[in-house]
Amino acid sequence: MHMLPYTQEVIRLYKEGIFFDARNLELKYQMPVKRIEKFFEGLEKGKIFATRCNNCGELYFPPQMDCPVCRNNDMSWEEVSGNAKLETYTIIETTPTSFQKYGSYVIAIGLLESGVRVLSWLRIDDFTKIKIGMNIVLKTEKNDDGGYTYIFEAP
Ligand SMILES: [Zn+2]
Repeated sequence: MHMLPYTQEVIRLYKEGIFFDARNLELKYQMPVKRIEKFFEGLEKGKIFATRCNNCGELYFPPQMDCPVCRNNDMSWEEVSGNAKLETYTIIETTPTSFQKYGSYVIAIGLLESGVRVLSWLRIDDFTKIKIGMNIVLKTEKNDDGGYTYIFEAP
């Protein structure tokens, strides 16, 4: 039988009258992204793409290929600058199970120069230096798993 590392702890707790169970949780996501392939290609090249509705002019990030405002599906790709102002943030001290390896982290909403709002992690060494309205930059980077993502950084 495969002995999991916490087995001794389970037995010890059980003898104290406590039932305890723990397992590793692996999450897998599948999302159809064929219509927004350009977005992921952009991330690999360090570029951030949004989409703009050719009918009403609304800009979307993350990109959408159907406009929820006017229900049009005629959209254009638009590269946007990562320069942003911090609008709001929250510090996550009690991390979800799947993010426990990261410790505390910051989730931010930044307003890009192009006028679109982005929800993303904010990388900053000292949380006490976070100020609403401060300049932040949305950057692309490679994940631990080899995929690409985006994250705000404080200069
Ligand atoms: Zn529209």
